[in-house]
Amino acid sequence: MLGLMQDWPLLIHRVIDYAALQHPNRSVVSRSVEGPVHRTTYAHIRKRSLQLAQRLRRDGIGIGDRVATLAWNTARHLESWYGITGVGAIYHTLNPRLFEDQLIYIANHAADRLMFLDLTFVALAEKIADRLPTIERYVILTDAAHMPQTKLKNAIAYEDYIAEADGDFKWVEVDENTAAGMCYTSGTTGHPKGVVYSHRSNILHAMAAAMPDYLSLASRDVVMPVVPLFHANSWSLAFSAPMTGAALVMPGPKLDGASIFSLIEEEGVTMSAAVPTVWLGLLQYLESSGEKLTRLKRVTIGGSACPRAVTEAFETKYGVTVSHAWGMTEMSPLGSFCTPKPETAALTGSALYDLKQKQGFAPFTVDMKITDDNGKILPWDGTTFGRLKVRGPAVSKAYFGLHENILDEEGYFDTGDVATIDENGYMNITDRAKDVIKSGGEWISSIELENLAVGHPDVAEAAVIGIPHPKWDERPLLLIVLKPDRSPTKQDILAFMQGKIAKWWMPDEVVFIPEIPHTATGKISKKTIRDQFKEFRFEG
Ligand code: AMP
Repeated sequence: MLGLMQDWPLLIHRVIDYAALQHPNRSVVSRSVEGPVHRTTYAHIRKRSLQLAQRLRRDGIGIGDRVATLAWNTARHLESWYGITGVGAIYHTLNPRLFEDQLIYIANHAADRLMFLDLTFVALAEKIADRLPTIERYVILTDAAHMPQTKLKNAIAYEDYIAEADGDFKWVEVDENTAAGMCYTSGTTGHPKGVVYSHRSNILHAMAAAMPDYLSLASRDVVMPVVPLFHANSWSLAFSAPMTGAALVMPGPKLDGASIFSLIEEEGVTMSAAVPTVWLGLLQYLESSGEKLTRLKRVTIGGSACPRAVTEAFETKYGVTVSHAWGMTEMSPLGSFCTPKPETAALTGSALYDLKQKQGFAPFTVDMKITDDNGKILPWDGTTFGRLKVRGPAVSKAYFGLHENILDEEGYFDTGDVATIDENGYMNITDRAKDVIKSGGEWISSIELENLAVGHPDVAEAAVIGIPHPKWDERPLLLIVLKPDRSPTKQDILAFMQGKIAKWWMPDEVVFIPEIPHTATGKISKKTIRDQFKEFRFEG
């Protein structure tokens, strides 16, 4: 017997329809690429995304077509997602921080038909356009007044493009499992791989993420996704904010501490999400300017391990609650959040910050397990490390155009992370499987050493890699970027770490460097560092 409830496929257009009906005047504020702060509303965004869908249809874009976006977080980028998916096509976010060859590979592999791009990226697109044969037209996310001279094929200003449609358009009704979005993983080995989100997966993921123990969004919130739309769906915020009626503040191209601070204060941002490097920038700005955060209540920090010093600074100096989150492109991307359960709610002081170092527990829709290399399930005791595996309705089952099976016999995807899970369900990433340091048959967590080193008051950023060692297989090398005008010695740093970790975890050497390389998604690029230090050997 079937249930007698209505068929109401989980389609993305329902999100913007809902926001326009229930929260029509909620603001969407953007720092525009052209410069000024731009203001619009969900009602207006819906109207313009209908215009865009209608205009796309006229260009022959429809179900299954890929439309690339190479753009910052702004209202235009957001509404382009609704317009593209509203005609049954697929938004394909390109990460402008990738190398040109990777961008070319990705756009060609996806066979993108159009590209929507910001003014910032016109020169980049011009440089690579000859090698992008599938792209029929470039739509520049600006108006006629700011339209540059460009030789890009069929280039048109976005405002002119949508002005050719009146918005009298009916969203395309497709099966909820139809593809809606694409994002390639940064792929540290081999070619990048295409993750394909569906309407259904995006909606279920956003609903799970919005719940109180996770992003905890409400219509009274003003949410600033600093995490880019091109970084794995902006952690759901393009959908979960309109779905809950939360207002949006889009930071556009300026992600430095001062710019983020001014938007938070001027626009009354209550909640924001970003990778640790962005927050390090904001905290450094606050420290040097003496400014205070008066509006911000919560931040979600993820994408790479959040240093304890960042969590403590936010909570103790500025009264902002930190929720550490973990996920990956293949998970849409959110997989866990660290917030209190009744079992942990009474923790205070350093026990609380110990907990907050963990990446937390999975929401409904994410099943998690840790296993050994043979697939045997390991206990949730908070100390046993294992391969972290996940499954759920917003977790990948395959990559675009590749036929290899990526799931185990129970349907779980191997995240490539190594983690512990404690008795309360809190997961703690110890490392990427390939970054963990193997010393004398035991594992040393590079992340834990980095977090500890960043706690030193003179340290701005730290990275740890394993260096081959004749006796121990590998030993940790600690690389440090100092804060301006600080000059501690190696011994000062090591003395600070002493006693806080097992003796045999202590780095064998400390090297001060001017800068730590990052990947296109803001993570420490261990691959680049390993290349830079491939000749390095410990003395003696
Ligand atoms: P991406 O697909 O680019 O988002 O990368 C996903 C990977 O980033 C994960 O598999 C983790 O290795 C890493 N990652 C994400 N969030 C965290 C976190 N909070 N702590 C440690 N590593 C993280």
